[in-house]
Amino acid sequence: MRVWAVANQKGGVGKTTSAVALAGLLADQGQRVLVVDLDPHGSMTSYFGHDPDQLTSSVFNLFQHNGQVPEGLAAALLLDSSHPNIQLLPSSTSLATLERQSAAQGGYGLVISRALAQLWNDFQFVIIDSPPLLGVSMINALAACEQLIIPVQTEFLALKGLERMVHTLNMVNRSRKQALPYTIVPTLFDRRTQASLSTLRMLRRDYADHLWQAYIPIDTKLRDASLAGVVPSQLDASARGVLAYRALLRYLLAQSLSRSEQVA
Ligand code: ADP
Ligand code: MG
Repeated sequence: MRVWAVANQKGGVGKTTSAVALAGLLADQGQRVLVVDLDPHGSMTSYFGHDPDQLTSSVFNLFQHNGQVPEGLAAALLLDSSHPNIQLLPSSTSLATLERQSAAQGGYGLVISRALAQLWNDFQFVIIDSPPLLGVSMINALAACEQLIIPVQTEFLALKGLERMVHTLNMVNRSRKQALPYTIVPTLFDRRTQASLSTLRMLRRDYADHLWQAYIPIDTKLRDASLAGVVPSQLDASARGVLAYRALLRYLLAQSLSRSEQVA
């Protein structure tokens, strides 16, 4: 089972879109994918047609049971998505109450990683979506994953957010055995704007070692897919945005393979 998380301390940068697009492409290839919504706003939960304000069971229950959830409840927690190979571990608004305490205080930092290892280890891929703030949920996402994807909107203010995210990552790395590999993904790229071009140039200059060299373009098909509640590849497999995410997935899989070969 491979666990990837999508995170950035900034909102509206394409985190949820990236999580759903990558999950969808993996699922199209026949992989069984679990998507985990750790954002109290529940964007990914809404994306797949479930209302985070109405759900009585959610990822929040895992924190209440500190990751040791009874079997029956574990099964009930998983919801269907619009894709037959994707199941959803939904968020609910109650998750926001968790954010008021620190992960360290509550001993809550490893709830998701424990739950994934014990309850849902029969998925081939897990993709975690996270909120745009540093708190219990994000710490859990970072602790649970083996690969982090950081979408960065190609506009001027984005670099500050990226700096913060890398700072957080360095902090988290101190408590991990190995540094968490991460890939920066330029998103919402618009070749007609100076902001997009110069942000991409700065990313290539300052973050070359961790940057995916291509970018995800602005593509209204991605927004249409979220309105329709389907993964982008199922709405239009040849849309520019989908092609870009397919290239990103190939890159991430190759990175992941080369890391496991280094270990072996
Ligand atoms: P985040 O999860 O970081 O807050 P989202 O993935 O929800 O960001 O994206 C914010 C908004 O931008 C959504 O309405 C989404 O549909 C849209 N969006 C994301 N990526 C693209 C893209 N490449 N092209 C066009 N719209 C996009
Ligand atoms: Mg989101």
